[in-house]
Amino acid sequence: CGIVGYIGKRDAYPIIINGLKRLEYRGYDSAGVALYDGTDIQLAKTKGKVADLEALADRKIKKNGTLGIGHTRWATHGVPNDVNSHPHYSQSGDLVIIHNGIIENYASIKKELIKRGYTFTSDTDTEVLVNLIEDVKKNEKVKLGKAVQIALNQVVGAYAIALFDRNKPDEIVVAKLGSPLAIGIGEDEFFVASDASPFIEFTNNAIYLKDEEMAIIRRGRDVKVRKIKDDSLVAPYIHELQL
Ligand code: GLU
Repeated sequence: CGIVGYIGKRDAYPIIINGLKRLEYRGYDSAGVALYDGTDIQLAKTKGKVADLEALADRKIKKNGTLGIGHTRWATHGVPNDVNSHPHYSQSGDLVIIHNGIIENYASIKKELIKRGYTFTSDTDTEVLVNLIEDVKKNEKVKLGKAVQIALNQVVGAYAIALFDRNKPDEIVVAKLGSPLAIGIGEDEFFVASDASPFIEFTNNAIYLKDEEMAIIRRGRDVKVRKIKDDSLVAPYIHELQL
């Protein structure tokens, strides 16, 4: 299982597909990608290999957009099929998430969300998480990053997540507990991945998030790392990768 993300000036699609191929060694049963060009979100996902995803994307989407997230799934909740593959939309269609790991208390959260009118298209714990974030964002009237933080403090489990919001075309939010998550820092562009291999040819500067940290990545601006528990700002160590 693996995650890849890109936000910058280039087309995200080839970076994400090549990145997912480099993460294939981690094992997976499905693959997917979501791209955002600031107007339309394009999403393609399928059971099978990254090569199957490429074939699907060729038929189904335009493959443009300078923001994107991609995923290889190792199913834990819900069988491997197209619908359970990531990325997952929130109910409004505004939020798009990828997730490696397990949300252990997803059943009780799901029950609560169903009471509040949410419906679910997949059997995954991940779709529960993205709707929890949406619910927090709406009810507490907070920004995306804050909503992610509040939601993650209600979650028991392990995760590396990356998500974006249709209303925030210049931002990706990531968080880590248990599963690995690296952020590549380029010039006016940022990369996200389970390890540095998807972005090593673009930059040799990387932040490795520690457990219980999240980051707000803003296009052409900066990466702000915070502790999920108490919201305190972290000064991240920037590793110099050996090429
Ligand atoms: N628990 C999630 C699912 O089953 C993510 C699995 C993974 O780590 O790929 O969809």
